[in-house]
Amino acid sequence: MRGSDAPMALSSSNGSLYPVIVPTKSSLKSFNFYLYQTGDSLVLIDAGINSSSSWNALEEVLQENNFHIKDLTAILLTHHHVDHVGLINRITEDHPIPVFIHPEGIPRLRRNPDFMERRISFFETLYKEAGCGERGKEQISYLREAKEKNAGQAIEADLQPIREKEEIFGLQVIETPGHAPDQVAFYDHVSDRLFAGDLLISHISSNALIEPDTSGNRPQSLLEHMASYNKTLTLDSPLVLPGHGEFIKDHHSLVRKREKEIAEKANQLRLLIQNGTRTADALARTFYAKRYNEQFPLVMSEIIGHLDYLETNGHIYTFKKDGILLYDLT
Ligand SMILES: [Zn+2]
Repeated sequence: MRGSDAPMALSSSNGSLYPVIVPTKSSLKSFNFYLYQTGDSLVLIDAGINSSSSWNALEEVLQENNFHIKDLTAILLTHHHVDHVGLINRITEDHPIPVFIHPEGIPRLRRNPDFMERRISFFETLYKEAGCGERGKEQISYLREAKEKNAGQAIEADLQPIREKEEIFGLQVIETPGHAPDQVAFYDHVSDRLFAGDLLISHISSNALIEPDTSGNRPQSLLEHMASYNKTLTLDSPLVLPGHGEFIKDHHSLVRKREKEIAEKANQLRLLIQNGTRTADALARTFYAKRYNEQFPLVMSEIIGHLDYLETNGHIYTFKKDGILLYDLT
């Protein structure tokens, strides 16, 4: 299945690009990944979700352009999330090619048991300090079950680390953490295109998710996400090829819009704090109402991220009482 608005192929002197667009009924609209041919190499940038429609879409785009799975040279990943790595095991099972990813993504793709355990402890402390009580404990039980249940989904392929400023298949690696600690964008400076993963999505705001880094520390993901936005503003006006939804032609104005939304949400939280709501959990329940239970980890990421933003901008300060973090206006 190909989205009717997706171009069949985009060519430039640097290489040819064949988008694979897999529509979804979810709010993401589509899972996008990209076949990119440069010189003798045929590279897959991201690998979709693990579904037959993803696989069929990839096969269809390969066939239409007289390629075969065995022609693939490598897979480049913008980040480790399941909707970007889904077809890797299926592709590399019979056709072992290297998979390039930022080092922060490697233990996550491997589902390294030590790392996964550290990650659960990280969230246990995070939710405890945020005052999440029983709902936090429920989430920790879920994470423990998921760790066992999903162990078989580990990526077995040959994983190769890529870092800031490296060039790979003519593409410049730009670290863009925030949505995920391992997120990178790939910049094709010849044709001025940016494969940006989930840094920017045109129809919805991409969330900065709280995650431990591989050392177990908590990066301030929303602030990192915003710094990553800024990094892309140093590029003139590339065509942004996102992991979901439509291609983005004017990313400068989309970044400004997203920054404004963040400032507005932070201001609403500041008012709640002013009115006496003191913990991240209480703020989350008040601000998100029904969504608090339904989307607990996402909601907590949003609240904690915006609290980081308010604190960094000098609007609030935090102190600990009985093991729980409390917030007040400066
Ligand atoms: Zn995604």
